[in-house]
Amino acid sequence: MKLILLGAPGAGKGTQAEILCKKLSIPTISTGNILRAAIKEGTPTGLKAKSFIDAGALVPDEVIIGIVDERLARDDCQGGYILDGVPRTIAQAEALEKAGIAFDAVVSIEISEEEILRRMSGRRVCEACGSSYNVEAVPPRVEGVCDNCGGKLIQRKDDTPETVRERLKVYHTETEPLVDFYRRRGLLRSVQSADTKDETTWAILKALGMEGK
Ligand code: ADP
Repeated sequence: MKLILLGAPGAGKGTQAEILCKKLSIPTISTGNILRAAIKEGTPTGLKAKSFIDAGALVPDEVIIGIVDERLARDDCQGGYILDGVPRTIAQAEALEKAGIAFDAVVSIEISEEEILRRMSGRRVCEACGSSYNVEAVPPRVEGVCDNCGGKLIQRKDDTPETVRERLKVYHTETEPLVDFYRRRGLLRSVQSADTKDETTWAILKALGMEGK
């Protein structure tokens, strides 16, 4: 199963990717998480990416394409994977096509702008493993502590209202055209982001014809 999750920042791609990869036993490739880890480790890629991310801009396509090529070549990806946060531009989608990858489906998680702004202010991520939470909708079992690894939960620097607005603008101009790109290829499955993460997971599995999972 090769799956792409599309959706505005805050639509719940990361949360759903984490749930789906456990259910389907395939890895999730999240470019956002890979970039944040690179920044934390101070690698050359991280240094290059940091200013773009902090400004709410996209990291250049060639950097992303390099990261994804390398990641998809690893053994754990041979049985399929979920892409979270990539492709984010037509150029990235074309690079995946050129690499000869045949996706089974592209799930677009739909959400209103108002809801995005509300959710982003409550979003917290694990500093250590990248898992995402929301103080209202998806709280951890213990406040401030990651359920998965016990790491510290922090607010992302690019989740401030001004940066979120910039990211939404970038989403509309750069990423939204991918909805049509994949619709034309017959791969698009649109799903409404629900109030709870379980309802959203259920809607995605239904859209994929995998309700029993
Ligand atoms: P969100 O969870 O809000 O969708 P991500 O964690 O996926 O955000 O990404 C955070 C930031 O990392 C983006 O705003 C962007 O700067 C950078 N980034 C992540 N993936 C990509 C990509 N595929 N292309 C360009 N930039 C990316």
